[in-house]
Amino acid sequence: MNKMTVRDIEVAGKRVLVRVDFNVPVDVKTGAITDDSRIRASLPTIKYLLERKASVILMSHFGRPKGKVVDDMRLAPVAKRLSQILERPVKTTDECIGPEVEKSAKALKPGDVLLLENLRFHAEEEAGDADFAKALASLGDIYVNDAFGTSHRAHASISGIAKYLPAVAGFLLEKEINTLGGLIEKPAHPFTSLFGGAKVSDKVAILKNIMPRVNCLLIGGGMAATFLKAQSREVGTSLVENESIETAAGLLKEAEKSGVRLLLPVDAVVADELNGESKSAVVAIDAIPRTKKIADIGPKTVEIFSRELKRSKTVFWNGPMGVHEIPQFAGGTQALAKLIAGLNATTVMGGGSTAEVIDALGLADKVTFVSTGGGASLEFLGGDELPGVAALRDKK
Ligand code: ADP
Ligand code: MG
Repeated sequence: MNKMTVRDIEVAGKRVLVRVDFNVPVDVKTGAITDDSRIRASLPTIKYLLERKASVILMSHFGRPKGKVVDDMRLAPVAKRLSQILERPVKTTDECIGPEVEKSAKALKPGDVLLLENLRFHAEEEAGDADFAKALASLGDIYVNDAFGTSHRAHASISGIAKYLPAVAGFLLEKEINTLGGLIEKPAHPFTSLFGGAKVSDKVAILKNIMPRVNCLLIGGGMAATFLKAQSREVGTSLVENESIETAAGLLKEAEKSGVRLLLPVDAVVADELNGESKSAVVAIDAIPRTKKIADIGPKTVEIFSRELKRSKTVFWNGPMGVHEIPQFAGGTQALAKLIAGLNATTVMGGGSTAEVIDALGLADKVTFVSTGGGASLEFLGGDELPGVAALRDKK
């Protein structure tokens, strides 16, 4: 990565403003944090700063309060959990800017930690408002971005604030950029990319950008139906994006021209409806009944995709192979997740649903890296420069 990190800047005795992503999942009924991995992901940066005698001011969004104060979306429970993990007090404020916050920030001593209130209680955050960014910046001496998952947004605390303070990357952001960037710049071959999920239109940029770098593209999930349609096949009542058929046809042609093996499902689990009650059946891909929908890849496809994955040195995976939320349609996704976790290869996953699948199966520590950025990782791999990364200081 050609951006400066916390290693490249003197932090002792400084107040360091760190943008983290503490948007953790909570139980809708009790409000209890159900998964604290986003908090843990920021620990390397926080601990590094504290060990070097900085005072740390953390900022995050949480939920979608849409510019208003919502009591259920206050960050106090997150501060409590962070305090338990860090084994030291974490101060909080009930605002993220203003005179009270300034007072709390000024009173911090080296080794102190303060978590500001939810940034999105102010509509100015998502609007990227310059005055709001300036008010945040006035609280510290240095800005650190460790919120990769929000770095594709030009929000005040992500790119706006970097105009007013020396701005560098945290360790999580650095790891994301180096790992995902490594896929694009110098992947070990054979490189296979596995795509699924609902829509082609979400993934066009990444498919185009990754095509010249891979040896093999495997396509399952809902998006496979649009590719099958582009080959003029019958896909029954499957989800097809009519406006993306031409794009899919173009990608098929591009693959052929550049010698990339692009493989589509050869069989599928089909059902009348995509719900748990519908009866399902496995059919060959050219025998999909007119009244049925593709709900998962079939066992033959799992076998063929597995063969390709097994001989790969680099694997990138985004998007489930079927409607994985419903157990009877989760088989293809789970089989390939387990297979990928067992590979002796660089294995990288991106995308919200994909990360959930890996976590739910307890495979997160058996793969090389699970990106914490859903949309951000897709945009980055699609070749876009992320506003939150662009705003950081270049390495000298
Ligand atoms: P990610 O979040 O990993 O990037 P996506 O958001 O692209 O993945 O896609 C996830 C969604 O795709 C899931 O909700 C899943 O139910 C849906 N999906 C997968 N296969 C199908 C299918 N055959 N038909 C309809 N939806 C599907
Ligand atoms: Mg998703």
